[in-house]
Amino acid sequence: AAMRETELKRTKTVCTYCGVGCSFEMWTRGRELLKVQPQPEAPANGISTCIKGKFGWGHINSEHRLTKPLIRDNGAFREAEWDEAYALIARRFGEIRGESGPDALAFIASSKCTNEEAYLMQKLARAVIGTNNIDNCSRYCQAPATESLWRTVGFGADTGSIADLEAAELLLIVGSNTAESHPVIATRMKRAAKLHGQKHIVADLRVNEMAERADMHIRPEPGTDLIWLNAVAKYILDSGHADMDFINDHVDCFEDYRDSLAKFTFEFAAERTGLSQDELQAIADNIIAAKTVCGVWAMGVTQHTMGADTATALCNLLVLTGNVERFGTGGYPMRGHNNVQGTSDFGCMPDRLPGYDFITDDGIRRQYEQAWGVDLTTRKGLNNHEMVNTIHDGDLRSLYVIGEDMGIVDSDALHVQSAFEKLDFFVVQDIFFTRTCEFADVVLPASPSVEKEGTFTNTERRIQRLYEVFPPLGDSRPDWRIITELANALGADWRYDHPSEIMAESTSLCDLMSGVTYERLAGFGSQQWPVREKGASGAERLYNDGTFHFKDGNARFHPVDWTEPTDQVDAEYDLHLNNGRLLEHFHEGNLTDETPGIVFKISQAFVEVSPDLAAERGLQPGSIVRLVSRRGAIKVAVEVTDRVSGHQLYMPMHGRANSEAINVLTSFEADKDTDTPAYKELAVRMEMISAD
Ligand code: SF4
Repeated sequence: AAMRETELKRTKTVCTYCGVGCSFEMWTRGRELLKVQPQPEAPANGISTCIKGKFGWGHINSEHRLTKPLIRDNGAFREAEWDEAYALIARRFGEIRGESGPDALAFIASSKCTNEEAYLMQKLARAVIGTNNIDNCSRYCQAPATESLWRTVGFGADTGSIADLEAAELLLIVGSNTAESHPVIATRMKRAAKLHGQKHIVADLRVNEMAERADMHIRPEPGTDLIWLNAVAKYILDSGHADMDFINDHVDCFEDYRDSLAKFTFEFAAERTGLSQDELQAIADNIIAAKTVCGVWAMGVTQHTMGADTATALCNLLVLTGNVERFGTGGYPMRGHNNVQGTSDFGCMPDRLPGYDFITDDGIRRQYEQAWGVDLTTRKGLNNHEMVNTIHDGDLRSLYVIGEDMGIVDSDALHVQSAFEKLDFFVVQDIFFTRTCEFADVVLPASPSVEKEGTFTNTERRIQRLYEVFPPLGDSRPDWRIITELANALGADWRYDHPSEIMAESTSLCDLMSGVTYERLAGFGSQQWPVREKGASGAERLYNDGTFHFKDGNARFHPVDWTEPTDQVDAEYDLHLNNGRLLEHFHEGNLTDETPGIVFKISQAFVEVSPDLAAERGLQPGSIVRLVSRRGAIKVAVEVTDRVSGHQLYMPMHGRANSEAINVLTSFEADKDTDTPAYKELAVRMEMISAD
């Protein structure tokens, strides 16, 4: 028994599956994971986890893991040693930069990777290659939310903490399938409802679990959230229930905002959204009655051509009612991946350095130039979405993508895949041979979260440390090591032996994080940015004293107007298809498909169909149908459920083959302000393949 004791190892790590940021200990023996053990001191989750955090670790020792670099030779991949792979990449990157300039290369960082890896990736692009063509997958999800918060309160992040969400009297949950996408936060919301009568108003096309439990569930027409949000704001203002003391003391642009609301009467809103005036009245009454309100939103708001404007309408409403700085209030875009927040925080954006400082800010850029020993370009960089079309145009020749199965998760996947075919040189770094790897020239085997050290930042800006649970499998390496070695192959002289050194460099340059230290993050320790005093715990709320992140310290209203969504239903494409996550699976399934118990529960792509539509079209549960959009077609099984209504369909994003993946159908239209694809604006027609 003593022998077995010594073999047992307990290591703290942070979950890799969503932005809640649950932390726990992993009990291991050798490469075997014995159990996931939550601890009461875990700051975001205490003793809770969900199915993914508890059981979704089949990927660690999967036989499908990449363990050797792969190089394409005469059309087929062969295994190679690291040195050969690095030498090839350095040579081809060098040639392309020599022929076409640094902007012919582009870099996509991963929101599954650590903050330290994000920092290195943007440093590689900017300091070693000389381009601002660097972005990350928040472009696919919450970039519009970040934009809306920049416009109104200043920082692109949750204004408060998970504790505020629990304390609020009212949650306004818009386009967020919280129970499946952020299960542990949803648990705390449900507990708040039970323990102190917290009210939930849920706006969603579909009766998801939060909608089912809500005090009020509304189902506006697709793409009309901005209208009812503005209408409710107008009513609150006109009826004298705006927080005028707060507005007079702390908010700019009030008159413009008031004028912009003029047309958003209940009558106008009811006509466009399909909601009744009674429903609109009830929403307004609930907001007026509640002393503390939090706005919670996710992809149902952001993945539209007016995603940023819709998120802004919600932020305006929170500002109008004084619900942005006190305990129990605020705006909460739910961050999807484990480190969506951190990957942007640490500078993987085309126009911003770590801490959201603009690359065009001469003073700040000079500090980086001095520290890195290079001149940095201020030429505008490309975001993910622009990269695809620039490849098609022939101006972008090489792409280096980390941990992102972009060929199937980006919208209009066939358009993206045909871009990949045009690349002169394509490097993909991942833990599995993804759909995207099929288009690569070199594939580099990376390590998952449990095989590396570093930090993640969760949805409430909380930075937490992860420790190495297992050594890297086979010849795979942690991403920070790969990026460092690649930079050195390209002529840099980077000497990082541990992620703590990368964090120390970053925090010495970035004001927002200047107080972050590995010592303070030890064990279950955490810090919430902004944190400027070494080792301090940081800020639970961003604007405690009514000072917002603008020069004059005031928040501001940002007027927004409504435009029609794209890809509308018509006689030919007569059904609206919505899409989102499943509780059991992570996105398209790369990671969770490696856990047999999870695959057993949900094994094939399916589409939810309402009982009315099933009756109308003669569909049975299990019928196989073809869904055809203006871009492509896929084949899926039917599930008949009253979670969806009428001519609206819902499909999980799980599915990786072109024959079943939702993004073969979605369009390349994007949010007009941030280029986030309008995944939720999608019309299809349905053709029967087999009825039973
Ligand atoms: Fe992981 Fe999110 Fe589940 Fe927590 S709620 S265990 S972070 S997937």
